[in-house]
Amino acid sequence: MSRGSSRRTAWEDVPPARKRAIGKALREVDAACDRTARVHIDPIGAVRGRYRAPRDLELAGLVGACVAFGNVKTLRAKVEDAFDRLGPNLTAVADDELDVFARLGGWRHRVYIGEDLGRLLIGARRVQRAHRTLGHKFRADLDVGGTLKGALTRFADSIREAGGLHVAARERRGAAHILPDPGKTSGCKRLLLYLRWMVRPEDGVDLGLWKSVPASLLIVPVDTHIHKLAHNLGFTNRRTMTWAAAEEITSVLREYDSCDPARFDFPLCHLGMLQRCPSRRDSARCEGCGVIDVCRHWQGAAKR
Ligand code: SF4
Repeated sequence: MSRGSSRRTAWEDVPPARKRAIGKALREVDAACDRTARVHIDPIGAVRGRYRAPRDLELAGLVGACVAFGNVKTLRAKVEDAFDRLGPNLTAVADDELDVFARLGGWRHRVYIGEDLGRLLIGARRVQRAHRTLGHKFRADLDVGGTLKGALTRFADSIREAGGLHVAARERRGAAHILPDPGKTSGCKRLLLYLRWMVRPEDGVDLGLWKSVPASLLIVPVDTHIHKLAHNLGFTNRRTMTWAAAEEITSVLREYDSCDPARFDFPLCHLGMLQRCPSRRDSARCEGCGVIDVCRHWQGAAKR
């Protein structure tokens, strides 16, 4: 919950014994998650499978995270197509604006066209060049003071301006939305996902590239899977995936790991994908769910 907010959260009424049971379930879900297998069906798999150099990875990660919308199979194919076009040396290509636009000509995903993606990449590369790495730029934005949200807003604004997205946005929705604006109320799932990839320690999924940014600061990127599970476990009663919901969910996960609350994001998200969580009692779909013993839909019910 935001500091200063007087809103009572769902979590404050959860008894200690139930909190302990939820902690046990979370640790078991985390331990059981087959990251090696699951990374291949996650957007980060397209980034890791393609690039090795840190500067390429932080650019590719931004591209991958910013188009991480909708069906994972479709979006993976779109990201792979963009990387096929851009080739193996991303930083070098991103230095040549005309080449980027030529390579991405005809690329399209939802409201985004190749020019939108190109401007994102060109802007990110210009900021990277100016600060040596995007990680240095983000650290500098954090050092200005204030919140993670404020730093992320400054970071996104600088890329938007460097790539000309702020001008293109007057004409096209894709240009306006490809880089989320943390200054608004949206949950900014895609930018928070990018931060998780860059900041969390290398674990076969996250990359651990931005070591000067503490993982304790991260806010969990709330997609539909995390939102459902967080609601089912009593972390939040908020119905929309806003920034406030992301903060509320993260504050609960901080009770289980104050140094690295976002460590639960990948295993929980993939649990939700595997179970196709129905958010109601459904014997077939809930079978084998790692949090069934603490899910609000199964409280007091026989499991079969
Ligand atoms: S037990 Fe069922 S409803 Fe509850 S979180 Fe798991 S899949 Fe979703």
